[in-house]
Amino acid sequence: MNPKKLNPKLLWMQFEDVLAPRLGLTVFDRAVYSHLLRHSLVVGKLRLQFSVMSVAAKLGLSNGPVRQAVRRLDELGALRLLERSKTGHLVEMRLPQNIRATRLHKNGASMPAGVEAAGDAGEPPASTLESTDFLKTWALRKAIHDRERGACFYCLRRTPANVKCLDHVVPRARFGRNSYRNLVSCCIECNTRKGDRPAPDFLRTLYRQGRLTPAELDTRLRALTDLAAGKLRP
Ligand SMILES: [Zn+2]
Repeated sequence: MNPKKLNPKLLWMQFEDVLAPRLGLTVFDRAVYSHLLRHSLVVGKLRLQFSVMSVAAKLGLSNGPVRQAVRRLDELGALRLLERSKTGHLVEMRLPQNIRATRLHKNGASMPAGVEAAGDAGEPPASTLESTDFLKTWALRKAIHDRERGACFYCLRRTPANVKCLDHVVPRARFGRNSYRNLVSCCIECNTRKGDRPAPDFLRTLYRQGRLTPAELDTRLRALTDLAAGKLRP
């Protein structure tokens, strides 16, 4: 990463005109992304370690919205969460031009003229369901949420918009893909508690804690198998 290569004008335009609207970023997402970028790529660092509490304090927000924004930015590919522990988060930041979802339009067109980074040839649009990256657009992410019909894939509780998120069944750290076979809609609590554990182990924990009945555990385990087999299409 060469900080001299950063063009602030271009970066600002990409952020305001392309990234934020195309990913549907909330004001919290914008504030957190800007803040993290300022302390990483803008000063020539690819990675950044921080605590949610300190970022929240600097932005004048409470911890919850900041934590959610970090999770959402990770889901959207605006950053990559490398580690999450009691001491803090370690993330790798991406510039707007390197965020996959911003590079493609529905018709396959990439960044608008003047905004596109030199040498970025873009990627061909995914032509089949199997090769589709379901984190790429708001509509694709919504398709996964719709498939679960407003219930958490793991604990089956209702998932209002403020607690709903997408979870990689096989975590990205273990090379899980952004495929409809590996993404589920779930509540934030399950997403956080599951962490990097294998999904069947997590379901059995929910069962032991009385959060799932024996019959529900059975259907959830079967749903996991069906998901991986491509039987749960969005
Ligand atoms: Zn849940």
